Amino acid sequence: MILSGTVIADSETVIENGAVVVDGSRIDAVGRRDDLRDRYPDREERHYDILLPGLVGGHLHSVQSLGRGIADDSELLEWLFEYVLPMEASLSPEEMEIAAKLGYLEMIESGTTTCVDHLSVNHAERAFEAAGEIGIRGVLGKVLMDQRSPDALLEDTDEALAESRELIEEYHGAFDDRIRYAVTPRFAVSCSEACLRGARELADEYDGVRIHTHASENRGEIETVEEDTGMRNIHWLDEVGLTGEDVVLAHCVWTDESERELLAETGTHVTHCPSSNMKLASGVAPVVDYIERGINVALGNDGPPCNNTLDPFTEMRQGSLLQKVDTLDPVAAPAATLFEMATINGAKVAGFDRLGALHEGWRADVVGLDTDLTRATPLHDPLSHLVFGAHGDDVVFTMVDGNVLVDDGEVTSVDADAIREQASEIDLSLEEYRESAAEAQP
Ligand SMILES: [Zn+2]
Repeated sequence: MILSGTVIADSETVIENGAVVVDGSRIDAVGRRDDLRDRYPDREERHYDILLPGLVGGHLHSVQSLGRGIADDSELLEWLFEYVLPMEASLSPEEMEIAAKLGYLEMIESGTTTCVDHLSVNHAERAFEAAGEIGIRGVLGKVLMDQRSPDALLEDTDEALAESRELIEEYHGAFDDRIRYAVTPRFAVSCSEACLRGARELADEYDGVRIHTHASENRGEIETVEEDTGMRNIHWLDEVGLTGEDVVLAHCVWTDESERELLAETGTHVTHCPSSNMKLASGVAPVVDYIERGINVALGNDGPPCNNTLDPFTEMRQGSLLQKVDTLDPVAAPAATLFEMATINGAKVAGFDRLGALHEGWRADVVGLDTDLTRATPLHDPLSHLVFGAHGDDVVFTMVDGNVLVDDGEVTSVDADAIREQASEIDLSLEEYRESAAEAQP
């Protein structure tokens, strides 16, 4: 297949009248359309206004999709313990699968082709199956919680790690290696030392298994960790083995100088979630500073109850604007930086090589965008449009691993109408889980 249009191959390479040739799951060639048309005369051609690498969501919660709008106007710990944990506790296996599907649908419809997905404690296998069926690329993990947790989510440490091991055996490398595993402690507040150390030991047993957790998102959280351990959160995570090149820490809003040095020294990845940080009033992550230190920073939407969309274009825009206003520097966090965070940096977070740009021999994860819009007229700078003007709704074509998942704006891999209908029929029953969650709140 030849995909033609304005090709944004990476943050520095825009090819007008360009094309991407896809062969199986790989990109065969990228260049000028007329040259490639001559080289591949028999290939079917599709034209899109802009072609870009599939975007990478470096921190998401697909299974929270049913909770969109249930927890507006609250701060993190209240948001989590009064709304989100009771919701996760209430979901049956079938509801968990529908929730995950809803999240993955929104991702592929709006240009996210790879997600680093923090699932829930229970029924994680249903989300793995959902991801496989829909065709998204992802690094998924069952959540670990063995303290400060509502009863329905509280697990015995060894049993939780044993279930994680079973899921690794079943799903790490599954679905043509589109799906991989991350051991996923919720955060240090809800995980014992044994749980965190056990997560490191388990990840070390398997090639390519990552560790994904939340860190230093909120001041109440870091105070709780300091009371528990006597240490700053990032130092504590380092102490128990949860730093390094295979570790993804979501947020890192509240870090001091020594913690930032530690993140840089250990090659730990950070995922920035600007909309979530703003909506929960968590604070502003020092993204410009992290990038200057050489820390790899990706971009994520976090969960629907704290965003409330999974639109990656909105996240790029918010990410840039937030850094500009925080540093009072209009030059800070330009479009190219946000585009890199949402593509190549995200690919490093997810741990897939040859992902996050449109280059010869790289993975065929490609998104096609419509710009026949008042909002995109005139189109002086395609990269500026992607970051500051485009919406997820502009996506009309999504390809993952050479498979077309969205065509003419419609999902082709599953019955999207049926999933939306099933999701809207679910009646969340938070009340019966609220008391136990409230007792667990620090
Ligand atoms: Zn999160």
